[in-house]
Amino acid sequence: MTKITSQADPAGDIPESAAGGVLHIDLDALAANWRILRDNAGDAETAAVVKANAYGTGIEKAVPALGKAGCRTFFVAHLGEAVRARAVAPDAAIYVLNGLFSDTCATYAAFDLRPVLGSFEEIEEWAGFCRAQSQKLKAAIHVDTGMNRLGLTVPQGLTLKDLAGLNDFETALLMSHFVSAEESDNPLNGEQIEAFQAVRATLPGIPASLANSSGIFLKDKPHFDLARPGYALYGGNPTPDRSNPMRPVVGLEGRIVQLRWVEADHTVGYNGRWIALTKRRIATISIGYADGYPRSSSARGKSGDELLAGMALVAGQRCSFAGNVSMDLITVDVTDVPEAEVKRGDTVTLIGGELTIDEVGRRAGTIGYEILTGLGARYARTYRGGKS
Ligand SMILES: *Cc1c(COP(=O)(O)O)cnc(C)c1O
Repeated sequence: MTKITSQADPAGDIPESAAGGVLHIDLDALAANWRILRDNAGDAETAAVVKANAYGTGIEKAVPALGKAGCRTFFVAHLGEAVRARAVAPDAAIYVLNGLFSDTCATYAAFDLRPVLGSFEEIEEWAGFCRAQSQKLKAAIHVDTGMNRLGLTVPQGLTLKDLAGLNDFETALLMSHFVSAEESDNPLNGEQIEAFQAVRATLPGIPASLANSSGIFLKDKPHFDLARPGYALYGGNPTPDRSNPMRPVVGLEGRIVQLRWVEADHTVGYNGRWIALTKRRIATISIGYADGYPRSSSARGKSGDELLAGMALVAGQRCSFAGNVSMDLITVDVTDVPEAEVKRGDTVTLIGGELTIDEVGRRAGTIGYEILTGLGARYARTYRGGKS
């Protein structure tokens, strides 16, 4: 058996004064978001998806805060993440979404973790392990209703009830996953619900789970027995065509290390991809793509253009990036902010206030999920709340 021990979050021990960026994580907002989701999930239990270090916010902080709010069931992607979650949630149900790797059954048993089984091979391996242990351990079964990624096909799912191995363990959950739940009108949502219901009808008595964050808000209310939100817990908008019902959880501030005037016709940053048409004032911020801030947020073009590029709030005012995002630095055009209001050492906001993670993602040509999960290990992390 491979020994896996709980590994403390490598981030979090950098003093704020020494860090290029400070990440603020509001655990009270996280708990409030869990309650909002619970209140929208009807009679279903509401779990929390805490994979990828709780979407960048820190498993060791997020899981206890969610537990205090009332959350009893957690989902992670990897076995190592599950072991970390177990260390801070001794009594919770913990599922591992990415399936059962060979020879890991004993680790699951040792830490009382539940694999999400997505193929007949995985089911047979778990059933065989349980037979050998003479113990009916718990697991989930994943049926793929459209992702074509993980899980039994629907026709396979419909034959599950006849599978002898199913008697060797306890199927604690039957689950599937939406392809596009954030598109409320996508006809695929209804088709997936129907396919999932067909499989579920053949396995009476087994709790079922389909909804991610956006799934909770679909008009069909596909809540079943357990909802599995992730993104919305961390402040992402689960209803992109409506206003965001969630509270922001994550804030990111960077420090200005230098200010300079750049003359007209001069460029800023690597490869000279941004050109000052007039004399511009540039603030250089001590955060870069090595911190997980995407280089695809670079501003390539001319000063004054409306560019789909990163933004910072400087003295409360929106200011566009100027030039390519560097490994450790971002350059921002602060010309429009009164000169006296911006000085060396000031902090600027990269996530927070009106700069939501959804907008930061869109400006980087990606989604807020990638922004959250990329939040770097070099930041000083400050946590607020989490006491109740
Ligand atoms: C990541 C994930 C979730 C959570 O999805 P969100 O869109 O973040 O709410 C739920 N279920 C599965 C299978 C997942 O992989």
